[in-house]
Amino acid sequence: MSKVRVRFAPSPTGPLHLGGVRTALYDYLFAKNQGGDFVLRIEDTDTARYVEGAENYILEALEWCGIIPDESPKHGGPFAPYRQSERRDIYDKHLAEILKTDSAYLAFDTPEELDEIRTEFEKNGDVFAYNYITRNRLKNSLTLSKDEVQKLIDDKVPYVVRFKMPIDRTLVLEDIIRGTSSVNTNTLDDKVLVKHDGMPTYHFANVVDDHEMEISHVIRGEEWLPSLGLHYLLYEAMGWEKPEFAHLSLILKPEGKGKLSKRDGDKFGFPVFPLNFEDPETGNISKGYREEGYLPEAFINMVALLGWSPANDREILTLEEMVAEFDLNKVHKAGARFNKEKAEWFNQEYLKNKSPEEVLVLLRNVEGLDLLNCGDDKLLKVISLMQERATFAKDIYTDGIFFFEAPKEYEEKAVKKAWNPAAAEVMSDFVSHLETIDFDTETLKKEINDFAESKGLGMGKVMMPLRLCLVGELKGPDVPDILQILGKEESIARIRNAVNNIP
Ligand code: GLU
Repeated sequence: MSKVRVRFAPSPTGPLHLGGVRTALYDYLFAKNQGGDFVLRIEDTDTARYVEGAENYILEALEWCGIIPDESPKHGGPFAPYRQSERRDIYDKHLAEILKTDSAYLAFDTPEELDEIRTEFEKNGDVFAYNYITRNRLKNSLTLSKDEVQKLIDDKVPYVVRFKMPIDRTLVLEDIIRGTSSVNTNTLDDKVLVKHDGMPTYHFANVVDDHEMEISHVIRGEEWLPSLGLHYLLYEAMGWEKPEFAHLSLILKPEGKGKLSKRDGDKFGFPVFPLNFEDPETGNISKGYREEGYLPEAFINMVALLGWSPANDREILTLEEMVAEFDLNKVHKAGARFNKEKAEWFNQEYLKNKSPEEVLVLLRNVEGLDLLNCGDDKLLKVISLMQERATFAKDIYTDGIFFFEAPKEYEEKAVKKAWNPAAAEVMSDFVSHLETIDFDTETLKKEINDFAESKGLGMGKVMMPLRLCLVGELKGPDVPDILQILGKEESIARIRNAVNNIP
């Protein structure tokens, strides 16, 4: 068998969304599992939908995910250029070839003429399609004489090139994920292959490039399944061997109904893009997983499992492990429902397994946190106490804010539960003990115990008000750990402040 070569072929019409990332990831995993190449090809022939910055975004997003192409516009490669807009001569050459066959023809109908016919059809309750029936009454090289066609060409009358759909053929389509299906060619229309301006459409450029770039497997979204019949016929018309195909099912909205759309991020409160994207026209920013604080390894692990089940229900896999395990036969036929909680769970799992030093770097890189005056020693201690329960690195700061700032107020419910004049007295008593002792966790534990015992108080009667003084509410890690990290001076100041200020 020839070398496995898989391409991801996005159009730079906007930021890559979750579905796009998953397609790229499966393309990559399959290619690497088979010892093959992963190619990034930018399909930018539709100039009307081109969005400035989208190509860079796609590259940056793939890089962030660790899905690095072997060949791309940036990395180059033996089949360069990898941007379709730079491959015009290749399409022109193959256009000349297909025009020599009976599978393509020139169509001179103007958009206005087509609109008129469309309206006429609609009036009769029909939908117009340029197909094996209607092409016989339209203005094209099938109905016009050779001389008429030549005259129109000489007069520079614009035309498109259409595929001539064969009549009443049943095509048997093979898909690695979905199995066999069939389609009758009478249900398909004569798609435009090359536009008025000479630019190929998606269908033509895509098939030409997959052939030229020796692509062995096309793994793409299911929205392209209706095009598969046409693509089969294009390969046949050109006399080329076709690649194998696999169409991935949709990623569904959290409630399970309907495709997860680009706008759903705003609606459901989670990003649908890997990185922030600023719309060049409106300046609107769509949120990205990276900026939300997701780790790339957690993000791709989550994305990979949207539609693929590794063996033994394993859930946590590194990219290398995914490569080793990936199997297109285990990719689900049904749509995969996106689940925000699950996405967060993945991040938490990966964060938990980082060393405190790694988390320190992450935390220092979170924008907008006031950590400039906090030394690494203290931060590392806070991290080791808070890391386990944090979903994102920033949670260590927000959930542990009392390590960095004294409480500005005391939570009402907590005050009700833990505070009264007796508690205030216990605290002022306790604070004098703190003055004299060493501030290591063990001594502090013992001191609190001994103090409670000497006063004949249950532990809760000391711990709860103490926690309230230090944290401002009844949450956080063990009190001796908090005392130790805050240090003697700060702990004493907070207790005194609480005694003086909690009514
Ligand atoms: N350019 C197409 C897209 O944006 C590629 C489809 C395919 O992979 O064939 O989705």
